Amino acid sequence: MSEQARRSLHLILPWDLDRGLACCPRRPADGPVLLVESVARSRAMPFHRQKLALIVAAQRHFADELRADGFEVLQIRAPTYALGVAEGVRRTGAAEVIALEPPEHGIEQSLRAAAAAGLLGAPLRLLPDGGPGGRFLLSRDEARAWAAGRANLRMDLFYRFMRRRLDILMDGDQPLGGKWSFDEDNRKVPKGERPPPAPRYPPDALTAAALDEVEGWGIGWGAARPFGWPVSRAQALDALARFIDERLPLFGDYEDAMVEGEPLLWHAALSPALNLGLLRPLECVEAAVAALRAGTAPLNAVEGFVRQIIGWREFIRAVYLLRMPALRGANQLEAEAPLPAAYWDPTQTDMACLGAATRAVHDTGYTHHIVRLMVLGNLGLLLGVRPIELSRWFFSAFVDAYEWVELPNVHGMALFADPSFASKPYAASGAYIHRMSNHCAGCRYDVKRRTGPDACPFNPLYWDFMARHRARFARHPRLGALYGTYDRFGDEERAAIRAAADAARARLLAAPAPAWSFDDDAG
Ligand SMILES: Cc1cc2nc3c(=O)[nH]c(=O)nc-3n(C[C@H](O)[C@H](O)[C@H](O)COP(=O)(O)OP(=O)(O)OC[C@H]3O[C@@H](n4cnc5c(N)ncnc54)[C@H](O)[C@@H]3O)c2cc1C
Ligand code: SF4
Repeated sequence: MSEQARRSLHLILPWDLDRGLACCPRRPADGPVLLVESVARSRAMPFHRQKLALIVAAQRHFADELRADGFEVLQIRAPTYALGVAEGVRRTGAAEVIALEPPEHGIEQSLRAAAAAGLLGAPLRLLPDGGPGGRFLLSRDEARAWAAGRANLRMDLFYRFMRRRLDILMDGDQPLGGKWSFDEDNRKVPKGERPPPAPRYPPDALTAAALDEVEGWGIGWGAARPFGWPVSRAQALDALARFIDERLPLFGDYEDAMVEGEPLLWHAALSPALNLGLLRPLECVEAAVAALRAGTAPLNAVEGFVRQIIGWREFIRAVYLLRMPALRGANQLEAEAPLPAAYWDPTQTDMACLGAATRAVHDTGYTHHIVRLMVLGNLGLLLGVRPIELSRWFFSAFVDAYEWVELPNVHGMALFADPSFASKPYAASGAYIHRMSNHCAGCRYDVKRRTGPDACPFNPLYWDFMARHRARFARHPRLGALYGTYDRFGDEERAAIRAAADAARARLLAAPAPAWSFDDDAG
């Protein structure tokens, strides 16, 4: 390797396992590659063991692929990312370190601070993390320019901007099919249809070793095995192809459905691979659009999927950029309840929907979006759980969770803790879960009752939530009318609702949650 090439050390952060990114050298002669496994990061909170193993295994597969193509690769396990980089600089004698702007606020701050203090041993050059060569479709400046001057950030407007900008599903300047969103077609519940089996990638020797190692650390939460997440680009591409062929056609129809024992349904389960760089957002979208052109998937499904990736995913990242660091402390509803122990321990609840959700998370690190929003998030909202507590649970417990994506989803969307983009909370009673799932049939609670010991807890908690926040929501154009219904209940019924809500809260909060420690910035 020439002296010139030795000058740059290419730092590949765990989210950048993509040879197309600007931080990855094109040829071995371009310079050495460094992957750091940060001990502080892995111990920052009780991360799901499958998530810890996924990150370790994916980094190691990526390193082996680069080595097989002749690259010099250093893999360093270090107390922190910064100390790992310093060690990489020492070993290679590099004159500069190149990386993408980290997606997580705390890690970006600590790397920048270490570089500014001269602790890395060489200057750090951070390349744009969005746009060509970046992990997101928009650069930070482009995301900020879109938001400039807008009092509220509206996903639907952002999505239209992205459709036009990328020229995806467009008919000239208008949306293909005459509508920007086919969401109202996407609320069916399967009646007898069974989803195809989820693709699983049994651990090879390297992944099995990563799993053993993670189990040996004696940290973390959730079941380490059975493990079946894609850990390499080849596996991730296979998972994408199987989603497009097997599940995309009905993805739209059943996007909002929840079925006992079927956490995946027709969803993609591609977020763990996407968030590590094993898949690129645009290639996922292009594969879905190709299925529409080939006539193998309908427009409501393809539009729904495209909206999740170029709409929600990019929008959420823009919100994180714009609202950090204040987003972490956002709590506009002044919610102060602790997190129920049932989130950490599925045996601690007799609510069928909550038990199914937390069991799925414990066993796999995954549930699809509606379970996250309308069961796990909705319950936290109605109970008034402190936003950072629910956020840290999501961050720890999901295999695809990184702060840039979980925090805006939990604080902004699920808990209405941050005012930046949701105009109203996604609060719902048991009727929503009953309509969209088959959980209620097997539940010990009665979804039709709102008072008494058998009342579905979501019902009194919903009305109690609306009553507690009357001053805020009474004039909301879509929520105000609910107060007319509430007032017609009469004094006795309202007192019974309050009592049922108190009883549900007392039951859910009876057992203390485990006393884990959390450090959002560790790394
Ligand atoms: C409370 C809450 C917490 C969440 N935490 C995370 C998280 O930590 N990590 C994460 O990747 N997603 C998170 N999401 C968004 C979404 O639920 C997941 O991306 C999705 O469930 C992943 O499963 P999938 O690949 O089967 O998604 P699909 O439903 O098949 O959607 C396809 C892709 O669209 C993207 N996407 C869809 N919705 C969102 C969204 N709201 N924000 C960002 N990307 C989106 C994902 O990359 C996903 O893979 C959260 C949502 C909520 C309501
Ligand atoms: S009755 Fe209520 S608690 Fe039970 S499954 Fe239905 S929504 Fe959930």
